[in-house]
Amino acid sequence: MSTPILEIRDLHVKYGNVEALHGIGLTVNQGEIVTILGANGAGKSTTLRAISGLLKPSGGEIRFEGKPAHTVPAHERVKLGIAQSPEGRRVFGTLTVRENLMLGAFTRSDKAGIAESLAWAYRLFPVLEKRRDQLAGTLSGGEQQMLAIGRALMAKPRVLLLDEPSLGLAPLLVKAIFQAIREVNQTTGLTVLLVEQNARAALKLAHRGYVMEVGRMVLEDTAEALIADPKVQSAYLGGR
Ligand code: ATP
Repeated sequence: MSTPILEIRDLHVKYGNVEALHGIGLTVNQGEIVTILGANGAGKSTTLRAISGLLKPSGGEIRFEGKPAHTVPAHERVKLGIAQSPEGRRVFGTLTVRENLMLGAFTRSDKAGIAESLAWAYRLFPVLEKRRDQLAGTLSGGEQQMLAIGRALMAKPRVLLLDEPSLGLAPLLVKAIFQAIREVNQTTGLTVLLVEQNARAALKLAHRGYVMEVGRMVLEDTAEALIADPKVQSAYLGGR
């Protein structure tokens, strides 16, 4: 088995004195879509923030391509190839769609490559090209989410971290966004770590999944096995 692209070992994260992650483990292999499921407050966003370097762990390890990454500053982690599309979108409302996308490429200097990534983001989300000169603040919620994902892709990441891409979106838009994530994964082999409350949609998209409860990983399996698991069904898929 080759080295996982991302590996977390016994990770602890605290907010002040309160521990939010109690020693979690997670493995993501090259080319996989892995999802983390869990209720509100389980620690999913905290996990992603620790991976992208926005939070400093109080213990444990984060390894990227076999090397320690938890000691690398956040902006250097983008250069390593870790890009996050944060929860709540956080696009720059007073900049245009195109300017927002270009900001995602701030660590790159390969002009031709950047132009190629931009063309690719537009192909993936045609509405962004249509609205490229429009201020991002005037986009709908779904369009802002597409922009946030497009911006993360502009960094040409090796691993894309997605925090709740379906949050607050109508089902049709959720479908479009998940379809785009699948397309990126299938055509480029991009590895994706997806945090979602929409467990059904996430498990349909993902290859494997983890279930998180109050700061601990309690289950880990293939997406297929998790969908069939009665505990997962009653707790996260609305029972059956
Ligand atoms: P959600 O879907 O609501 O974002 P989550 O699974 O992503 O849930 P986290 O946001 O990671 O959960 O939160 C994990 C725990 O850490 C919760 O108990 C939460 O209250 C706490 N927490 C999160 N952010 C902070 C913060 N900035 N300061 C203090 N505690 C926090």
